[in-house]
Amino acid sequence: MLSDSLDQLRAAIRDVPDFPKPGILFKDITPVLADGRLLSLAIDGMVEPFAGQQVDKVVGIDARGFIFGAMMAQRLGCGFVPVRKKGKLPWKTRGVDYSLEYGTNSVEMHLDAILPGERVILADDLLATGGTADAALRLIAEAGGVLLGSAFFVELSFLEGREKLAHTGSVHSLLTF
Ligand code: AMP
Repeated sequence: MLSDSLDQLRAAIRDVPDFPKPGILFKDITPVLADGRLLSLAIDGMVEPFAGQQVDKVVGIDARGFIFGAMMAQRLGCGFVPVRKKGKLPWKTRGVDYSLEYGTNSVEMHLDAILPGERVILADDLLATGGTADAALRLIAEAGGVLLGSAFFVELSFLEGREKLAHTGSVHSLLTF
């Protein structure tokens, strides 16, 4: 992707200090969503690493990963699968618990969302520590999905999520801070 386009996307991300708690610098991507041209550029950039590959499903993580993941799926002409916080999906699920800095969290996916051998991309808005993405990747592996790679709009490199996911395959991010 052209560096000018990347600069425009980077400039549109709003830094919100101390949200949702003191000490966190939140990367607010809603100004990108609100601008049709930038939104289209973001999705172009996120699908680019997978050009020419056969993709069956994009898996998006609750909640902003639904936006980026569903748009990627539409662009790639494949299906979309939501990974949701525990208790939100209506049908039979598989779940995985993972640890956060303080405490634990759980995510779930429908049992029939990915068939064994399907070719899958994981998508989320932002890669921080990689804990959430790692949990979603475990659900994909348990379902027998073949991971083509993970795609993030933003990566916070100082949190070393890329290292945490290195064992899972290729990790792509459009903007790194
Ligand atoms: P992690 O499991 O640490 O990689 O956290 C990833 C999830 O938390 C992503 O789905 C992000 O939406 C959200 N997140 C974590 N840190 C930030 C941040 N500084 N700004 C915006 N979103 C964040």
